[in-house]
Amino acid sequence: MSTRAAKSHIDKCLNQGIEDSPNAFLIKVQWPHKNPIYWLYLSVPFKSKLEDLDHFLREIWLECCGHLSQFTIDHKRYSSDFEPNPFSPFEEFSMSIRSEEILVTSLKFTHEYDFGSTTELLLEVVGLIKAEASNEIRVIVQNQEPQFKCASCGKKAKMISSTEGDCFCKSCVVKDDDELYLLPLVNSPRTGVCGYVG
Ligand SMILES: [Zn+2]
Ligand SMILES: [Zn+2]
Repeated sequence: MSTRAAKSHIDKCLNQGIEDSPNAFLIKVQWPHKNPIYWLYLSVPFKSKLEDLDHFLREIWLECCGHLSQFTIDHKRYSSDFEPNPFSPFEEFSMSIRSEEILVTSLKFTHEYDFGSTTELLLEVVGLIKAEASNEIRVIVQNQEPQFKCASCGKKAKMISSTEGDCFCKSCVVKDDDELYLLPLVNSPRTGVCGYVG
């Protein structure tokens, strides 16, 4: 399913009779920014905070070793490790702000995880919905796991080299080939990055 097909499916099934009482944002999250391979449609309650969304993204796609993260919304930064800094050239804030205070329909913003090997996601508020769960962020639709071919034999790959980016099936992996730093292939934009194992 493409992101467009997913959106029209959501519009058909979830968006009926919600005009009077939406309680959540429908947010599309994607990687990379163009022609996404990995994407999610999330229901994000108005009441939830940016830090809840940060935790959710870490949980489903990103967390490897507790790196820092930040949202950039309207040229303002919302950091996971906020400390007031009068010398910063940016307007910086903590993530403990409610989504309803800053998000509006059609707004696009970014989330970055890890400022070394950064995974940068593009987010877009694509609409308002009436979510069943008014207290928690939930996945509504998600991309199917992409299939990659083994660089040696062409069969379905299971591992990815974090140094080369090549993928391999299990039988083509040479046991003592430490230099490839092989990691499991998982359905996440962070696959093959740092120590991410899913
Ligand atoms: Zn890491
Ligand atoms: Zn192979």
